Amino acid sequence: VYFRAMDYLNLLNPQQRQAVTAAPGQTLVLAGPGSGKTRVLTQRIAYLIQSMGVRPYNILAVTFTNKAAREMGERLDQLLGGARARGLWLGTFHAMCARILRTEANNPGLLPFQSNFVIFDADDQQNLVKRALRENNIDDKINKPSAIHARISEAKNNLVSPDDLPVRSYRDEIVVKAFKRYNELLQQNNAVDFDDLLLWVVRLFEEHPEITEKYARRFEYVLVDEFQDTNMVQYSLLKLISSYHHNIFVVGDEDQSIYRWRGADYRNMLRFEQDNPGCEKILLEQNYRSTQTVLDAARSVIDQNANRTPKSLFSDRGRGEKISLHEAVDDHAEAAYVVDTIQGLLRKGALGGDFAVMYRTNAQSRLLEEAFLRAGLAYRLVGAQRFYGRREVKDMIAFLRLVHNPDDEISLQRIIAVPPRSIGEKTVNALQFAAQKAGHSMGAMLLELAEKADESPVWKELGRGAGPIFDFAVLFSGWLKAKGELDLPALFDRIVTETDYKPYIDDGTDEGKDRWDNVEELRRLAFEYQNKGLVDFLENLALVSDQDTLPEQVNSPTLLTLHAAKGLEFPQVFIVGLDDGILPHSRSRDDPEEMAEERRLFYVGITRAKDHLYLVRAGLRSTYGNPEYQVASQFLDDIPEDLLVRSGGEVVGGPARLKSWDDTGEDDYSYGRRSSSHYSNSRSNDVSRSNSSSNDVSRSSVSRSSGSRSSNGWGKTSYDWSQPRTVHAASGRSTPPPPAPEPEQKFHDGQRVRHPSWGEGLVLSSRILDGEETLDVAFESVGIKRLIASLAKLEAI
Ligand code: ATP
Ligand code: MG
Repeated sequence: VYFRAMDYLNLLNPQQRQAVTAAPGQTLVLAGPGSGKTRVLTQRIAYLIQSMGVRPYNILAVTFTNKAAREMGERLDQLLGGARARGLWLGTFHAMCARILRTEANNPGLLPFQSNFVIFDADDQQNLVKRALRENNIDDKINKPSAIHARISEAKNNLVSPDDLPVRSYRDEIVVKAFKRYNELLQQNNAVDFDDLLLWVVRLFEEHPEITEKYARRFEYVLVDEFQDTNMVQYSLLKLISSYHHNIFVVGDEDQSIYRWRGADYRNMLRFEQDNPGCEKILLEQNYRSTQTVLDAARSVIDQNANRTPKSLFSDRGRGEKISLHEAVDDHAEAAYVVDTIQGLLRKGALGGDFAVMYRTNAQSRLLEEAFLRAGLAYRLVGAQRFYGRREVKDMIAFLRLVHNPDDEISLQRIIAVPPRSIGEKTVNALQFAAQKAGHSMGAMLLELAEKADESPVWKELGRGAGPIFDFAVLFSGWLKAKGELDLPALFDRIVTETDYKPYIDDGTDEGKDRWDNVEELRRLAFEYQNKGLVDFLENLALVSDQDTLPEQVNSPTLLTLHAAKGLEFPQVFIVGLDDGILPHSRSRDDPEEMAEERRLFYVGITRAKDHLYLVRAGLRSTYGNPEYQVASQFLDDIPEDLLVRSGGEVVGGPARLKSWDDTGEDDYSYGRRSSSHYSNSRSNDVSRSNSSSNDVSRSSVSRSSGSRSSNGWGKTSYDWSQPRTVHAASGRSTPPPPAPEPEQKFHDGQRVRHPSWGEGLVLSSRILDGEETLDVAFESVGIKRLIASLAKLEAI
């Protein structure tokens, strides 16, 4: 059953209707969040098909993400009945371009690749740049492949070819050389990168007017959502593809432009108007999403940005509830507040899917994920891999596991060539072979090699590969010795330094920094096990590292970055980490343009909320292993006090000044007490966490944790993270680590087992998940737990 066109037109306000039914030509819908831009765009497609008789085949709709495309497709199915939209092109810029290129590559000689070209992902691209550098005899330690790649990507996004790149320095020369070789290598591999997808289409169109015309004729109507986040190439592409019929309908909001770091330029909104003098401009002013309170807060924040057109937004949903501003004692209490609040509301009948928790950087999800796991509450993580599933986190855990258990071959295989150290698959196979012959594990072979190199059979077996293996063996044996002497964070640091891990993952790009943030997050966790040590640390990971301890349910709270939240809406939104240096991010401090972007990011977050917004911050945060006072985000100052209900304590400078948890005026359940007892069970030795209702306890916790800074913090570790020293400068060919062998299953369903703290239990299921034997065990004491067999101290009974 689907609506007829006239039915849904009646549900729109006059401006929306004007947009949906706008005459052919150029239309710009410029409107704030929640005003129905996406809805209008979707309904215009339905309107064109149903009321104007346009064939779906002649329509192109561009969305910002694949997810948005899927949702729009579903909505269209409802409006039209599935089959009726057949032939419609609906997808992202990249998807659209890949499609065009696959078609056109069938024409011989037109493009430098065949129709079955592969699309290289970020990792592949990086490896290719590295190769290009090496082939030009350029040192890839000094010239970081990722930094070079960023320059290449930027050039491609601005339609600049290697020959057109200005050469002003030696560095520029290197970029040009690498850029040229990189392109050749792509070609040799019959591959393109993400940027190429767009670039080649623009080139193709520019050089072959007949091809442009073919597509431009086909797409009578072009519609674009989130237009404010288009970059230069995308803008050119749209211009070309609409160059025959000139029917282009774009919707956007300058205030929600948050992808500057990927070359997006919100001034394209203005450019669109200038390039299309006859364009019809439509403003939507009614917000259907949020309460007036949420809108007022959003406006007070965005109004601080200069150079923007002020937009008025109103809602007839009424004032609604005030915004909750919660200042947690520390970051653990912050996560606990979120989870406790959600649990409280779930008990009152809210649905899991009503909630979203948003944060500035991916690394912030870890504490939240843990809090959800502890509470036994399902959650969804959007747009990023779960913390423990991320490559860099798994790498570091593998190093530690190997040091814990030198016979752990899975971990060894994972990291023996990470970062690349000239150990190839052949060498690893030879090592494995030598180990088998000697009846040892590979780890044991390495240790033997490190101890008495000349007697080890590995030398003979390995031939040329022996050098790098020996170097690694020496590192490895050093770590084993250090295990007894160093505490866990120091051991962690040593591994990171000696493997030169930081430059390997952090190339200076935003993604690189995010990856490094994740390593620091893990280090922070290691800090909490400073006293308990490696074994307990790994045991804890056995519990939380499983990716699906709880089934991914659609109807669960969503954890996502503010960037990933664009275009979405939720009844209840939490934005966490509203501290200076997090939001706005410390990277943006010195650049007004960046600050404006951070503000827009906050604005996007606020305006996702339909009914209730929670802003959360922490007085103390242990970003670098030891608690540090946080200053509240300056953005909070812009929200009028009468829109807020404050709760939690404040930590202002020196000694803590904490409001009582009890006078928050909150509901019948107390976050403080519950989370305090909740944590004291599982994390007994951390002092800064107790989230108590008493001033005394809080004060003492603060002074103790700040006192610990000098003894436990960076000062104690013996080197500087910002200057990793190169212990082993590997040169030569890099090779991906060989695939890890499938582990043996040690336990079987129905088996009885014993755990040191939980006692006896029954194995409900045992399976290999992500290369690990994963068990569901029902314990009499604690109920069902999911464990990783190789980490949990389980014994069969
Ligand atoms: P954003 O800028 O955040 O992407 P948007 O302008 O695209 O927002 P939509 O997502 O299209 O806004 O709409 C926001 C919400 O308001 C949706 O739930 C949508 O269904 C609803 N909505 C929009 N217009 C109307 C209307 N005329 N009547 C009822 N609900 C509406
Ligand atoms: Mg939208």
